[in-house]
Amino acid sequence: MPEELNPFKIAQEQLDEAAEVMNLDKQAHAILREPMQTVIMNIPVKMRNGATKVFTGFRVIHNNARGPGKGGLRFHPQESLDTVKALASWMTWKCSLGNIPFGGAKGGVICDPKTFNPQELENLSRAYMRAVCRFIGPDVDVPAPDVYTTPQIMAWMMDEYSKLVGHTEFGTITGKPLETWGSAGRFDSTAMGGMYVLREAAAHMKMKLKGAKIAIQGFGNAGAYAFELAEKLGAEVVAISDSHGGVYSKKGLDLEKLKQAKDKTGSVVTYKGAEKVSNEELLELDVDVLIPAALESQITKANADKIKAKMVLELANGPVTPDADKILFERKIPDYPDFLVNSGGVIVSYFEWAQNRQGYYWGTEEVYERLDAIMTKSFKDLIDVQQKYGAAGKKITPRTAAYIIAVSRVAASMKARGWY
Ligand code: NAD
Repeated sequence: MPEELNPFKIAQEQLDEAAEVMNLDKQAHAILREPMQTVIMNIPVKMRNGATKVFTGFRVIHNNARGPGKGGLRFHPQESLDTVKALASWMTWKCSLGNIPFGGAKGGVICDPKTFNPQELENLSRAYMRAVCRFIGPDVDVPAPDVYTTPQIMAWMMDEYSKLVGHTEFGTITGKPLETWGSAGRFDSTAMGGMYVLREAAAHMKMKLKGAKIAIQGFGNAGAYAFELAEKLGAEVVAISDSHGGVYSKKGLDLEKLKQAKDKTGSVVTYKGAEKVSNEELLELDVDVLIPAALESQITKANADKIKAKMVLELANGPVTPDADKILFERKIPDYPDFLVNSGGVIVSYFEWAQNRQGYYWGTEEVYERLDAIMTKSFKDLIDVQQKYGAAGKKITPRTAAYIIAVSRVAASMKARGWY
């Protein structure tokens, strides 16, 4: 991987930039540049042929000054420690910006879960929990699903943890199925949070959402729900893609027909009545709002000056590189950062943990109302900081403003605790 695309280097670069602008204490900066704790595990798993295979797993706590670690767990063949470290640090900023009582953490296992049968998947999930259990717990670090991990995997892990500690501990993991006290509203919470940001950002820019044209890269959990919710706001999704490519129609796309195309043929590209576009072309379409909802490093210095959207909403993690972020800012295209836009998932995870701990459960409407309040407050905080710095003659990107809020809160907590 080229060094400029190494996610951990990118995460450090973003922190460095914010640290300079906000004049962050050097000791706080040094603590925040590296994770507090990195655990690397050898995980033996019994496979279907009776042989034991050893997998490498990670769990990183970037910072826990404001509360237990919080962050997903990925099962992926290209998983790397640097990716996990970067994602753990972004979790610190995400939890801090939403002002929820967690630090940042992340985990991963290098494996290809698509080749496992259900028994092997369960064996790996339980073996991971046995290996990591001393570093996990409702007051220590609380994992959740992420790439290629599911609510079922979370239920197996919660069960294994409960057996190890001798009592059922629902609050040790979130993103669980409802049968094991997952939260109402969890399944579309990431996209829902992103759409509250879209509503606020459009109002801030005086953009009318009714009839606004939207392009979404990615048709997975985040992208597909974003499509549905954007339509509810009156916007028109004109382009969508998956790993095979995309489709574009000025007249708008039909969600049900897209789902049918995806179910029947495995991709949205077989959708009838629209022009085919590549993933690169989708990013450069003439739309009002561009929502990257697939992979990291999609908008780079190579294409940032070709983006025509009036606003970028980062529903994916890390879709815009630091160089591209600067180019978009110079071109006056606000790029709202991942750790604001996609924080709905972790915020509802927080609700799940809080409900598990108090043993009292909320309905879907209550979850959405509470989520809306947090997302709206985070967006307004970001704009306030951007305007405050602007008034003092320092023009800063939405990402730097979000970093300043998040880093200030973590640094203040570390200071009060006497860490520096
Ligand atoms: P997913 O696996 O459900 O969907 C990913 C989508 O991206 C699929 O449609 C896939 O076909 C598409 N894709 C893969 N390679 C692509 C390529 N080269 N070009 C275009 N599309 C491609 O994943 P998801 O849960 O929707 O997550 C998407 C992004 O959102 C990731 O960056 C993830 O970290 C982030 N995110 C998701 C959540 C969540 O709750 N789902 C929460 C926070 C952040």
